[in-house]
Amino acid sequence: MDNAEALLSRTQTVRIGEFSIGAFVEREFRLDGGTMFGVIPRVMWEKLVIPDEKNTVAMQTNLFVVTTPVGDKVLLDSGLGDALSDFDRKMYAVTTPSNMTAGLAALGHKPEEINWVILTHLHTDHANGVFAGDPDDPELFFPNATYIVQHAEWESANHPNERTAAVYYPGRLVAITKADRLKLVSGTREILPGITVEQTGGHTSGHQGVRVESDGEAFVYYADIFPSRFHLKTPFVASVDTHPLDTLQIKKKLLPWCHENNTVIGFDHDTEYLMGRLVQGKKWLDVGPV
Ligand SMILES: [Zn+2]
Repeated sequence: MDNAEALLSRTQTVRIGEFSIGAFVEREFRLDGGTMFGVIPRVMWEKLVIPDEKNTVAMQTNLFVVTTPVGDKVLLDSGLGDALSDFDRKMYAVTTPSNMTAGLAALGHKPEEINWVILTHLHTDHANGVFAGDPDDPELFFPNATYIVQHAEWESANHPNERTAAVYYPGRLVAITKADRLKLVSGTREILPGITVEQTGGHTSGHQGVRVESDGEAFVYYADIFPSRFHLKTPFVASVDTHPLDTLQIKKKLLPWCHENNTVIGFDHDTEYLMGRLVQGKKWLDVGPV
């Protein structure tokens, strides 16, 4: 098994009360370091993560499957998938196929068993894995799922502007509406007993986080609000965020709560931690093992 295979075969499972949460790596990709770390200068972030000669840093799409007490299977985000254009492949520096089917299988799931897909937002690296086949006329990869998206996000993705045109694909989203599989929500909403989404704004105005709570235990997945362990440091906010001060505010509110409650947190793009619990670092909260 080479390094890339070993990385992609990583999975992790935790129990949160009556729920089981499994994590796997859908893909490795690379993105510009400046894009990831926003106002933090390279002289500071390169001490934490070493960029290549093109200034890109290693990232992953880590996905989570929540199995409910009654056996529903809820996928949180969907990664990049395989319905990618040449432009997408170049933008995310991906050269290999998606690990979606193998990753799900490693946790004991099949794509057709997924009942719900909660998309935190509709950027390519979070939403595109719901598509299969031709990127210009895709089919749905999870044919039996209902797809949960915030109203505001659906609006933004269907009306991209000059700043967001490279990461939103209204033409592909038609596959979800055509199959009548879309459920739009606004603000905070319990999707299933114990599973709640909360509109965060910040990264995009319709970005949402997901909480799973059961028997006094909790898991949170806030996707690009803290995409990696480095972003637990409050000022580390990606430069693509449309409302960076909102990202900062929600981190200041949510992370101390997670620390106090010993909450398990999921990271969408971290290369070391798929899930972890918070520990107090020297200045900021840091991550430790589950
Ligand atoms: Zn992302």
